[in-house]
Amino acid sequence: MSKEKLNIPDYNTLFTEERYVQQRENKKQFEAPCSDQEKAEALAYSKSAEYMEKNFDRKAVVINPHKACQPLGSVMAALGFEKTLPFVHGSQGCNSYFRSHLSRHFKEPTPAVSSSMTEDAAVFGGMSNMIDGLQNAVALYKPEMVAVCTTCMAEVIGDDLTAFIGNARQKGAIAEDFPVTYANTPSFIGSHVTGYDAMIKSILNQLFDRSGLTAAPGTGEEGEKLNVLLGFEPYTGNFAEIRKILNAFDTKYTILGDHSGNYDSPATGEYEYYYGGTKLADVPKAANALGSLVLQKYTLKKTQEYISGTWKQQVSSLSTPLGVKATDKLLAAISELTGLPVPASLTEERGRVVDAYADSHPYLHGKRVALAGDPDLLLGLIGFCLEVGMEPVHILCSNGDVEFDGKKWKLEVEELLASSPYGSEATVYVGKDLWHLRSLLLNDPVDLAIGSSHVKFAAKDAGVPLVRVGFPIFDRHHMHRNPIIGYQGALNLLTLIVNIVLDQLDNNESGFGDLVR
Ligand code: SF4
Repeated sequence: MSKEKLNIPDYNTLFTEERYVQQRENKKQFEAPCSDQEKAEALAYSKSAEYMEKNFDRKAVVINPHKACQPLGSVMAALGFEKTLPFVHGSQGCNSYFRSHLSRHFKEPTPAVSSSMTEDAAVFGGMSNMIDGLQNAVALYKPEMVAVCTTCMAEVIGDDLTAFIGNARQKGAIAEDFPVTYANTPSFIGSHVTGYDAMIKSILNQLFDRSGLTAAPGTGEEGEKLNVLLGFEPYTGNFAEIRKILNAFDTKYTILGDHSGNYDSPATGEYEYYYGGTKLADVPKAANALGSLVLQKYTLKKTQEYISGTWKQQVSSLSTPLGVKATDKLLAAISELTGLPVPASLTEERGRVVDAYADSHPYLHGKRVALAGDPDLLLGLIGFCLEVGMEPVHILCSNGDVEFDGKKWKLEVEELLASSPYGSEATVYVGKDLWHLRSLLLNDPVDLAIGSSHVKFAAKDAGVPLVRVGFPIFDRHHMHRNPIIGYQGALNLLTLIVNIVLDQLDNNESGFGDLVR
């Protein structure tokens, strides 16, 4: 093997090379570009208070929304089940976007196929694409289940999934008894969390109906006690953490929708399309568990309604349990559902986190923060900020349409903020986008922004450090492997945030030497 060092410049370096500089200069003659002075003036105006007012009056356009498409969430949901192939009924381009978006976050491949609808399917309907697609996908990738979701094109022309899948069976493209679950996921409403919910609900509902079982909570012969649903979960480490907690309780449980295997499979030299996931046979049996624990109550709205309505199960619903108080609530919920006491090992772990909070408090106390993210994550982050003494100032959730139940969420956020003196400075923005957040950061500055990689551009413009939490995180590696829920997660979040604050202090060191803090 050659020892010669490869020269692989990243694009920032590459595009400063003379040939690219020249190419850009040459293009200007066709573009009639603004002068440098005009650009500088427009940029300065876009940072002003006057512009912010106009920006917040904006009605007709959304700029950089902090959300993704419904079917993207459905693909993630499908990958939470054993040997299940996500099948996107719609155009190939949409599917490529979902796959690349998920793969850039998890740094793992995303196996998903599409029915590749093009112009003819848009005119005549996508039935033949669906039938051929199902036949080919089953023959090529040998799944044990296919989970079908839809893109905007299939929804706009009104393709009927029930009829199409039925016709595929009639024509022999797939066997009569081969499970194909399906959910309608139009992206012109809702977001990735709505699509996740739609697919999880469909999988539970349709596999249960096929089984012929009758739901009888608390009668599981094999000791099923508790169902756990994490929701649209961008942290594979959170699955490991919830398992650690449930194993400490020594209770039997079933995680319904576990994509952590697919997104954390080992490199063995052989690629496997399917890795891990909830066993298909465990889904109908989950109807006989004592109860269900939901860790993203706003995301899993329809799924909860199904479990409590059809399975008649007790459902304990929380938002993402970040921080000590939220983890206390999580443990109390597990204790109530199973009748088991909180294990001593977890109480001890809690004490260590409280100790760490006290150590870091001088550096976090009073720090003003901006938060952007999904509804349940935001509730968790706000609770965490308040308990470590940070002051949420701007709270922005793009997922604010009717589907998502934004009003109820906003009321809960405001109640949480009112429970602490650190919450008094906050304003909650539902349905606003990251271009609004940029105006806020520039005109009402904060010390830190917390959110996904998409928040980077607004934070950079405002000169605010970004703590990367949520989905997607493209521009840093392996953050999804570390849990952020539970006591361990609280410690991880604390470490992440306080060290960014300490970095800032070091960077702004004023000439009195480096204090060892
Ligand atoms: S918004 Fe609709 S058309 Fe666009 S990528 Fe998402 S599903 Fe496809």
